[in-house]
Amino acid sequence: MRIDLARMQRRLDALTTPALGGTPAGGMNRLALTDADRDARDLFVAWLREEQLDPRVDDFGNIYGRRAGSAPALPPVLIGSHLDTVPGGGRFDGILGIVAALEVVSALNAAGRETRHPIEIVNWTNEEGARFTPAMLASGAVTGVFAREWVYARTDRQGRSFGDELARIGYRGDESARLGPIAASLELHIEQGPILEAGGESVGIVEGVVGIRWCRVTVRGQSAHAGPTPMTARRDAMVAAARMVVAARDLARARGDFNATVGDLTPTPGVVNVIPPVVTFSLDLRGRDDTTLEAVVADDLRKRLDHIAAEEGVRYDLAVEWSVSPTPFAPAIKDRAEALCRARGYSVRRLWAGAGHDSQYLARVAPAAMLFTPTIGGLSHCETEDAPWPDIAKAADTLLALAVELADDGEP
Ligand SMILES: [Zn+2]
Repeated sequence: MRIDLARMQRRLDALTTPALGGTPAGGMNRLALTDADRDARDLFVAWLREEQLDPRVDDFGNIYGRRAGSAPALPPVLIGSHLDTVPGGGRFDGILGIVAALEVVSALNAAGRETRHPIEIVNWTNEEGARFTPAMLASGAVTGVFAREWVYARTDRQGRSFGDELARIGYRGDESARLGPIAASLELHIEQGPILEAGGESVGIVEGVVGIRWCRVTVRGQSAHAGPTPMTARRDAMVAAARMVVAARDLARARGDFNATVGDLTPTPGVVNVIPPVVTFSLDLRGRDDTTLEAVVADDLRKRLDHIAAEEGVRYDLAVEWSVSPTPFAPAIKDRAEALCRARGYSVRRLWAGAGHDSQYLARVAPAAMLFTPTIGGLSHCETEDAPWPDIAKAADTLLALAVELADDGEP
């Protein structure tokens, strides 16, 4: 049984043509539930039929295809990812996982290889959350995180709803088609960061998806005129906020066990010659354990901000607005994946996923795991996103072997 790398490349090319959202610069614009998304789905469905996988579509537009097992009553091993992209995104994020899932089935079919458990492949709707927030909407819905009416009522910037757009493109299927019980869930994805490339490893085994805290910090000083107010007599909210941004970065660097990012900062009133009295900024904290994140928010970071506020004569408030716990993946599947890589002589590393993936919701209902491939320059969610095919071949081969092991044994 072998992965056919040329077939994977052909399928990835076919899913990223200009008609399906490919951009002149080699990237992708394929927001969820657009015409381009519909056309990509149509192609996926055609391939499912070619592989005798009898496609089914659930009421969130998730598309499944099942390859029967020799014990058909057993729950399937699920393999999936997503066809939607961010605007100005790349050709590999999500799409590679779909192509790899298809390849597992194509390789099994070509070899006439039976498995005990069925193998089911899936395309999840709206993984990116670029059109309808939040991300991972449809995998969340089928794993009990979101209610259907709430999902259907999500609107894009033009006010069009998820439910209407799903019906418009012809992919509003049946509740009865939803994901049933599964034995395990697998996903292959590009790393979207620089770690595997820097280490020279071909395959990443994902320890889990990091936990997140989204905080909003509001700094309050004293508004005054930029001219007459001496530099020594200011309570400048902007200077305090700037020092706080740097302090968060320095703390994350010093501890090494979480990431801190300020992506949004707004001064009020935002006028050139006014010392701003109020500055608010976002603070995105990500780490592999909740205790770390709690300690950072409640203690380490707080102390540094308190110190800056006192020195700058300002007050501040830090509110945690959104919180997600880390999702560790199934240890037994990770061990199997690593053993398979080592037996084949593939260089391998374990690493945490810093971005969200559908697999973190699947981990709520079944043992789940992800494989990463290196990403050139660590760049993703951009048009130059690229991944080396020799490494993809190794990761896809590992995915195939892992899926077969799980589908034959049943127990992760
Ligand atoms: Zn993705």
